[in-house]
Amino acid sequence: MSGNSRTPAGGSLEPMRTCVGCKETAPRSVLMRLVLDGDRVIVDETATKPGRGAWLHPDATCLDLAHRRRAFGRALRSPGADTSAVGLPGSSAPSTDRQQVGMKAHGHPMSPSR
Ligand SMILES: [Zn+2]
Repeated sequence: MSGNSRTPAGGSLEPMRTCVGCKETAPRSVLMRLVLDGDRVIVDETATKPGRGAWLHPDATCLDLAHRRRAFGRALRSPGADTSAVGLPGSSAPSTDRQQVGMKAHGHPMSPSR
């Protein structure tokens, strides 16, 4: 359905934000907010920090797109901002799963293999 992006008299609708990665709009609750902290771009997990914010899907594809386009600097009006601290929630320990799988597959670490 097109041409219905704005609903009149919709008081309870969430405000829409544009993802700086894929440029699609989404309710702010599904996007994560990024703010400038000095010269660094950080994730505003509670979306309550004052100042200008950039919005991004918590998605590796959107994060990658935003990095390549330098979209954070543009959205935050700070082209030289350091975006190295920007990360996705829940991706802090990607190696844990691999370790567990390796342990299970191995089975008997003490087995004589000679
Ligand atoms: Zn996106």
